[in-house]
Amino acid sequence: MAKTHTRYVCQECGRVAASYMGKCPQCGSFNSMVEEVIHDEPVSKNTAVDAKYDEKQDLARASMATGQLSSPADRLAVYFGHTGPKKCEINIDFGKTRGWVEFREK
Ligand SMILES: [Zn+2]
Repeated sequence: MAKTHTRYVCQECGRVAASYMGKCPQCGSFNSMVEEVIHDEPVSKNTAVDAKYDEKQDLARASMATGQLSSPADRLAVYFGHTGPKKCEINIDFGKTRGWVEFREK
């Protein structure tokens, strides 16, 4: 089963917090923390259109975070970025929703 948890991310500077804060402790912005719901999503080799989920076919698991964009995207946009030392991110935007996965080198 996919697990879900919540975190808060500052839309100004990207600071992540476990609980809501009215003022960002990093950049000082007010009301910039946006709630994200994080699901642990599997990567599976069971990719047929009518396939049922089978945990044994999972290749990897990663935390997929979602958040809301300030303005809607009218087409699907996919970004791959190097966001820091030993760290990359894939972002997918559509409508008012952004989903992303972070990859870290061990
Ligand atoms: Zn901030």
